[in-house]
Amino acid sequence: MKKIGKYSFGIGDRFAHQGKAQLKALMKAQKGGIEVTPVWNKSNREHMYVHSNPSDTRDEADQAVKVLGYKGDYCVDADHINLGNVQGFITSSDFFTIDVASKIGIPATTEDTASFIASCAAYTGELNIPNITHPFHVNDELLKKIADKFLTAITEAGKIYRYISEHKGSDDFVTEISMDEVESPQSPVELFFILKMIANQGIPAQTIAPKFSGRFNKGVDYVGDVAMFAKEFEEDILVIDYAVKSFNLMDNLKLSVHSGSDKFSIYPEIQKILSKYNKGIHVKTAGTTWLEEVIGLAVSGGEALKAAKSIYSQALVRKDELCAPYADVIDINTGQLPTVEEVETWSSEKFANSLRHIPGHPDYNANLRQLIHVGYKIASEMGTYYTDLLKANSEVIGQCVEENLYDRHLKRMFKL
Ligand SMILES: [Zn+2]
Repeated sequence: MKKIGKYSFGIGDRFAHQGKAQLKALMKAQKGGIEVTPVWNKSNREHMYVHSNPSDTRDEADQAVKVLGYKGDYCVDADHINLGNVQGFITSSDFFTIDVASKIGIPATTEDTASFIASCAAYTGELNIPNITHPFHVNDELLKKIADKFLTAITEAGKIYRYISEHKGSDDFVTEISMDEVESPQSPVELFFILKMIANQGIPAQTIAPKFSGRFNKGVDYVGDVAMFAKEFEEDILVIDYAVKSFNLMDNLKLSVHSGSDKFSIYPEIQKILSKYNKGIHVKTAGTTWLEEVIGLAVSGGEALKAAKSIYSQALVRKDELCAPYADVIDINTGQLPTVEEVETWSSEKFANSLRHIPGHPDYNANLRQLIHVGYKIASEMGTYYTDLLKANSEVIGQCVEENLYDRHLKRMFKL
C-alpha cells in the first residue's frame, strides 16, 4: 500500500499552471531539512467549474516532478469524492479524500447500531486516553448518539473505499476520510468512536479531516479562540494515537486540515503540538495559490493588471452567485469592499498589497481577498484570455506562488 509521509501539503491549483512553483517551495523546505510530500488535489466541484479533468491534475504533477528532477514521493488527490463521482478519478489518482459529510446524521439500522455498540464494550465506563487529563464517560446512550450521527457516514466510506480498491485492482493508494464540510465540529470523544467505525469497516485510513472549532474561512486567517483550538487539536492528536494502538489502524494515521492555507494564527500552536508528540500532519492549501495568480497578474501590470481588476469588478457584481456554494466558509463584510471605480484607479502595488495576505499591512483587505477567492469561476469564463496571461507572466506569478507557499506557509508551519 502506498504510504504517505509524516508531513504533506495539499497543493494543486485551479488552472493547473503552478505545479512547478509549488513543488519548488516544497523542495526548498526539503533543503531546510523538512520533507513535505506534495499532494496535488482538486475536487470534482473545481473540475466542473473550470472544465478540467482529473487526468489534467495528474499531468500537472508528473510534469512538475519531471522538469524539476524531484526524487521524492508525491500524490494526486481526488478531493472530496463520493460514490457518485469517484469513477472519473480512479486511474489518475493515488490519494482519495472520501467525503461522507452528507451522510452524517442519518441513523443506521437498529441491527448495525447494536452491533457497533457491542463492539465498543471494552471502552465503556471511564475512558482514559493517555496524556488527556480528564476521563471521558462512555455509556451505551453516548455510543448510540454517536452511532446515530456517524455510523451511516462511515459505512458509506467503507463502500467507497472498497469501490476504489476493486476498480483500481489494488490498495496502492492513500485513503483520507473527510467530515470537515459540516456545521458542527466533532468532539475528541466522537473522533475516537468514528475511528472505531473506520476500523470496523476495515478502511486503512491514513489521514482524517474532522471539522475543528472556529471558522476556517477560505484564504484568510483562522477566526476563533486559538487556545480552545489548540486544546481540541492536541486532544485529537492524542485520541488518534490511542485509537491507532487500540483498533489496529494504520500507524501513520494523521490529521488533515482542510482550508488549511492562511491560518497563520494557529500554525505556531499546531507546530508546538506536533513536535511535542512527534506527529505528522496533512494541510490542504490549494486555494491560496489561485489568489497568488491574481496577485502575480496585478504585479505584472498592463493587460495583466487589467485582467485582475476585471476579475474583481465582475466578482463584485456577481457576489451572491459566487458566494452561495461557499456560504459556510467565507465571511465577507460587504461594507468593506472597495467600489469598482476605486479599484480602477489602483496601481499594481496597491492591488497586490490589498490582496496579499500580510496581516497588519495597511492595505490588506480580507474581504476583497475572500471575494476574489470565490471568483475563480470568472477567470475560468475568460478562457484562453486568462490562461494566456498566466503563460505570458509565468515568471512573476511563479515567484508569488513559491514565496507564498514557502515564506508564509511552510516556514511558519515547520519553523524553518
Ligand atoms: Zn475540504
